[in-house]
Amino acid sequence: MLIKDAQFVISNTDYRKCPQDGKPEYAFIGRSNVGKSSLINMLTNRKKLALTSSTPGKTQLINHFLINDEWYIVDLPGYGYAQRGKEGRNLIAKIIETYILNRTQMTNLFLLIDSRHEPQLIDMEFMAWLGEKAIPFCIVFTKSDKLSRSALKINTNNYIEKLSEEWEELPSIFFTSSEKGEGKEDILNYIDQLNKL
Ligand code: GDP
Repeated sequence: MLIKDAQFVISNTDYRKCPQDGKPEYAFIGRSNVGKSSLINMLTNRKKLALTSSTPGKTQLINHFLINDEWYIVDLPGYGYAQRGKEGRNLIAKIIETYILNRTQMTNLFLLIDSRHEPQLIDMEFMAWLGEKAIPFCIVFTKSDKLSRSALKINTNNYIEKLSEEWEELPSIFFTSSEKGEGKEDILNYIDQLNKL
């Protein structure tokens, strides 16, 4: 799929104020600094569509980007950010939870995991919750360029093995590098297929 047009539409803390046109939405989520904004910018060929972590005062909101006037990329707040304190974390969790549970046009959720990391409890718990609520999701291993091919394979295989202990059927898995533009076609084709259903 070719992205001809990508536009920022609106930021919200409340899913009820999100666009009402019923277009399919693909949400992206992960721990802060996982590379979510970089991935959204890479997918859309824009340098600054989504604000990266280095942007001063980056706020934690639900951001809607309209793609080709047909579907939305939804940038969800990063979770598990220690500096935010307990109250801040709870608030973000609420924003994320209500969006995911109530937004019927959310077609798929892309959960981003830094390829270099060991399985983290917070991500595992989040996935268990998604499973419990029957939310369709995929895993995206980000920053694949930061590891050698063999280290990437070993690390992500370990991750997948750990997941297999808890999941009978694994979700679809993507490997991406926003530096190198890797994984772009795979993700866009996946979205294209779902849009056609
Ligand atoms: P966010 O907080 O999840 O939106 O993460 P950002 O997109 O702001 O990325 C966090 C940091 O990781 C930034 O310094 C990015 O330049 C870096 N980064 C993100 N994606 C990649 C990638 O694919 N490869 C490399 N080498 N660095 C990346």
